[in-house]
Amino acid sequence: MEIVESSKEAIALEQKHGAHNYHPLPAVLSKGEGVFMWDVEGKKYYDFLSAYSAVNQGHCHPRIINAMTEQAQKLTLTSRAFHNDMLGPYEKYVTEYFGFDKVLPMNTGAEAVETAIKICRKWGYEKKGVPENEGKIIVFDQNFHGRTTTIISFSSDSDARKNFGPYTDGFIKISYNDKEALEEALQDENVVGVLIEPIQGEAGVNVPGENFMKAVATLCKKYNVLFMADEIQTGIGRTGGLLAVCGNCTCEGHCEQQATYARPDVLILGKAISGGVYPVSAVLADNRVMSVITPGTHGSTFGGNPVAGAVAMAALEVIRDEKLTQNARELGKIFRKRMNDLIHKCALVSLVRGKGLLNAIVINDHPSSSTAWNICLALKENGLLAKPTHGNIIRFAPPLVMTEEQLHECCDIIEKTILGYSEQMD
Ligand SMILES: *Cc1c(COP(=O)(O)O)cnc(C)c1O
Repeated sequence: MEIVESSKEAIALEQKHGAHNYHPLPAVLSKGEGVFMWDVEGKKYYDFLSAYSAVNQGHCHPRIINAMTEQAQKLTLTSRAFHNDMLGPYEKYVTEYFGFDKVLPMNTGAEAVETAIKICRKWGYEKKGVPENEGKIIVFDQNFHGRTTTIISFSSDSDARKNFGPYTDGFIKISYNDKEALEEALQDENVVGVLIEPIQGEAGVNVPGENFMKAVATLCKKYNVLFMADEIQTGIGRTGGLLAVCGNCTCEGHCEQQATYARPDVLILGKAISGGVYPVSAVLADNRVMSVITPGTHGSTFGGNPVAGAVAMAALEVIRDEKLTQNARELGKIFRKRMNDLIHKCALVSLVRGKGLLNAIVINDHPSSSTAWNICLALKENGLLAKPTHGNIIRFAPPLVMTEEQLHECCDIIEKTILGYSEQMD
């Protein structure tokens, strides 16, 4: 095995031998701990992306790594042809944690979304009585749900979609945060479900109106369709609630009595459910929905494997024991205040938006300009790693284990970098 000695060498190897399906910032990382990452030259960075919110618990959390290595030395994979002694305990744990009857374990986020779509369609035909092959699912402009053929069929992103047809049928796309459009689309009797991100992360942290998710839940119930919440990026503490659909609830578990809780019929989780150490995803639903899944109708060789179960339980325990949801909520307020102060000092940033520690700043320049990219390069030089999303927007999503002091230091770095960049432009 070749060991790379410089960032330049590592990047050249990827360029030559790997498919060019990403455009990464030129940072080659070789170590992570908590909120920090180090590159191969030993330079230390604050991580402000957290692997798209997979690493909410911080890099290489000792409890999660311990759970993984202990389990890996005992049993890693049996397939579901047999039972394993971690799956039952994990399924009990995760369903009680989020308050659903049943879980269907998978590996990646896109697979979990595909699973939800299959469950929803089958429920539509077998329980709602929609004629076979006529079921439709409502989705939203600027959505991001993954990269499989079915999912990109209803993407708004031309890079993700173009030349990957023919596309999967049966999706109706409407504008986000638009109650009237949703109710209108629900007039179609063949609609079986609504698939939605409670905050659109990839689209640049689009936060809908305060009551929108509650309205989605109510309308889904009224028209007898399944409300499917894709919480792969927003869930598990990130937005200052256990789930983004929890609204303003500060409790560390589900609590249906809360007025702000927009309970989905199908909850889709991924990313932080493993703390970023192993691919784990999950679809949760109650018996009335999950009962459509019978032997042979769905599965995955690695789904529900014992390492995944051990890792996910430890990762969810860390969220609860370290009160990371509350921390995200409190630090989020400080972060947005600091960014609003910056906006007053500098015309280059026009807006900060977000919830908890899922935030973004909007750069005041043409969407196709490279300003946000160049600011991210400058942030890297100053020891902080973040990445632009869709044009001139920079998402800021540090691990939730950050301290207040560290957050202020990071805000100082962001402020210094952006003020410096803006002087340079004048
Ligand atoms: C990341 C993400 C996915 C896809 O997850 P993968 O593990 O990359 O397949 C789906 N939905 C949302 C909202 C995401 O952020």
